[in-house]
Order: sequence, then structure tokens, then C-alpha cells
Amino acid sequence: MCSDFSPFALMQSAVDIVGESAHPVNPVAAALAGSDRNGAPFSLAMTNEWPPSIRDKIGTDTRIGNASGTVHAETACLLHAPRTDGASLFVTDPPCPNCVKYMAEAGIKALYIDHKGFEKDYAQRRGHDFEQMSLRICRAAGIAVVLLFRKEQRLQTLLEIPDEYKPAQDKPVGLTPFPDAPGKPILDSLFHFYVRSNRRAYDPEPFAMALARATGIEAGILSAEPCGMAGREPEPAPEGKYNFTLQPLNRLMMSAARRGLRINPDFVYSSRVPTSRELVNMVAAGLNRLTVGDRTAARDEHGPRALDLLEKAGIIKVSDGP
Ligand SMILES: [Zn+2]
Repeated sequence: MCSDFSPFALMQSAVDIVGESAHPVNPVAAALAGSDRNGAPFSLAMTNEWPPSIRDKIGTDTRIGNASGTVHAETACLLHAPRTDGASLFVTDPPCPNCVKYMAEAGIKALYIDHKGFEKDYAQRRGHDFEQMSLRICRAAGIAVVLLFRKEQRLQTLLEIPDEYKPAQDKPVGLTPFPDAPGKPILDSLFHFYVRSNRRAYDPEPFAMALARATGIEAGILSAEPCGMAGREPEPAPEGKYNFTLQPLNRLMMSAARRGLRINPDFVYSSRVPTSRELVNMVAAGLNRLTVGDRTAARDEHGPRALDLLEKAGIIKVSDGP
């Protein structure tokens, strides 16, 4: 927690821990400043990291499907923040399109990037993704982007968002009130009832659902289908490393973060096998149980391999669902 909420102090709180990153080649750190459900300000800072269970049970050299086992610093902040709606993120390096898609769903309003991050080798190689994808997602989501010069204590706006701008809400994450009934068997059958109702609503799109709550005061079922995060433009051919679509489970995790809700690991459902990146993010979010509707369905061939690896390592317990 950083008690000084100036952009320079918050960026410094990220820079101060970047040396603690376990990543041997690209150490990155991020800080997030926002307010919790009671309006109390908070901040936290994290580095890119391997979730402990992946590090200990699979190791840091093995890919999880087609995803690395690491979670980027920005994503780690989003997954561990009490609440992300309206929050600001401070990153030592230009963020990748995946992290920016998460920021968009998590309701981040401003992104500060250390100007020194643009001078690194990694940024040079990935500059195209930042220019062509990350900034485009920020523009669509209404995330202001600011370059931060620490030494000169100077800010330079890279992407300005007009005050009246409202992001499109094409396929909003659903939140259905859920009775706070006692007893897991009752909750199980109710949850499955909602899964079946949602299947009719989302068909033929894949979807995911999770039971979420905020410290016992309210419970709801979050549900989502995949969504393009750069406006209504058609998705480019998936030839590169990234695309504009945010997958359902990632949407649920980020939507829960946005609202300051905690997902109950016993009630996480995916109609098909999640993607490799959804699975790694699940582990990072502390979700170690998953119900899958159809284990023969997946976006690509990597998801089933990732799920198999995580299941055999005892990291995610999988059950078949409705
Ligand atoms: Zn990233």
C-alpha cells in the first residue's frame, strides 16, 4: 500500500518492486490505485509472476497449452485488487493486448506507462502490438493513456478520452441475483438450473458462469459469452499472437474484480474447455475447481492440453456439468 496517491509515487511503488520479479528475461511491475466497495482508497503493486501452484507442481519451463505459466503484472494487480471499477493502473512497460482487454472489462479508467519502458528490447519487438491493438482497445474502452517521466515529474497524454465518451456495451456480463440459500446440494441444483437457462439464451455461443458475492451481503451469478473489445469492427484473422476477443471466463474474473465481488470456486462453469490463458488466469485468481459442459468442445487444440496438464498436476479439479 502506497500512502501517496500521486501518479509519480504510484509508478515508483511499481518500479521499487520490479527487481523482485521471478521472470528471468522480462521483469515487469504494475501498481493499481482505486477505491473499495465502501469508497476507501487503496493501492497495490505486483510483478509478473508464476502462480505458486504452477511454479511448484509444473515448473517455470513448461508451457500450459499455448500459454506461458506466468501472469503479467497488470493482470496480477487486477485479479488481487479489492475492486477495479474506475481505478488507475501504473505499468513499467507498455502493456500487451491481453492485459488491456482485461483492463477494459475491469473498468480501468487511466493507464500510466513509464516512458523508460518504451526503450527496452521487448517493447521494440512488441511495439506493433501496442500501437495496433492495445491503444485501439483503450480507445474503444475509454481508457486514457498517459506517459510518465519519473525524473522530470512530467506527464504526457498519449490517448485522451473525451469526458462524455461512453464505451459500447454490446454483450454486457450478466448479473443474476441468486438466493443465499444454505446447503451446497441446494445451491448445486439451483446453479445447474441457471446453467440450463443460460444455455438457451447464449446458444450457439460458448459461455461461462460463476457465483460471486461481496463479503456475504449479496450474491449473484455472473455470466458471459466471448466479446470483441475493440468496438464493432470484425476480428482480424488469428494469425498473430493476439486477437481482440475476450473469452468468457476471463470476462467473469474481470467483471467480478470490477464490482468488487469474490467468485466462489465451487461454482465456476464453462460450457466448453476454456482456453490456455483462461485456465492460467483461473489459477492465478485462486479458482481451483471447474465444471465443464462439453469436454469435447474447445476454441482450439491448446485448451484441452492445458486442462489435462493442470488436472493431472492436481491444480484444477474438473467435473462434468449440465
Ligand atoms: Zn500483458
